[in-house]
Amino acid sequence: MRTVIYPGSFDPFHNGHLDVVHRASRIFDRVVVAVARNESKQPLFSVDERTRLVRESIRGISNVEADAFEGLLVDYVVRRQACAVLRGLRAVSDFEFEFQLALMNRRLNEQVETLFMTPKDTYTFLSSRMVKEISRLGGDVAPFVPPAVVAALKPRRP
Ligand code: ADP
Repeated sequence: MRTVIYPGSFDPFHNGHLDVVHRASRIFDRVVVAVARNESKQPLFSVDERTRLVRESIRGISNVEADAFEGLLVDYVVRRQACAVLRGLRAVSDFEFEFQLALMNRRLNEQVETLFMTPKDTYTFLSSRMVKEISRLGGDVAPFVPPAVVAALKPRRP
């Protein structure tokens, strides 16, 4: 049973994240989308809301699940008996930070591998920050996020 952990803030989950999840679900036996509590980032949605939105967005993909976690990612990976961490790479600009993170996680636990996947080219410009900004300014986010996230963003508009 090969389990991969796809960690992130997912504030909120969008179609770029979903694209990576779809791709990973064809390679691994189980994909766990792991929502980090990350209160220091002052998220728009609570960790429970973010996890619920992931869960509703991945409904129908049988080998994917949503979970929330706190603390060190490498410890969570061990707890879930996963073999790797999955991160998305949109552009070269993501690389430096992701490279640092992967090496630090390896330093913390030699057994934990990090793998990278790129989304479909049409999603490379997508980020949770952009989605929140478009929504805040009254734009239509439906092309960028799953329906559950569209519904959750609506009442948050000013
Ligand atoms: P972070 O975990 O840095 O707070 P996110 O929650 O936005 O960032 O993203 C979680 C993971 O998904 C990260 O690996 C990030 O690089 C990746 N990701 C974000 N946006 C996209 C996208 N449009 N396409 C593919 N992967 C993405």
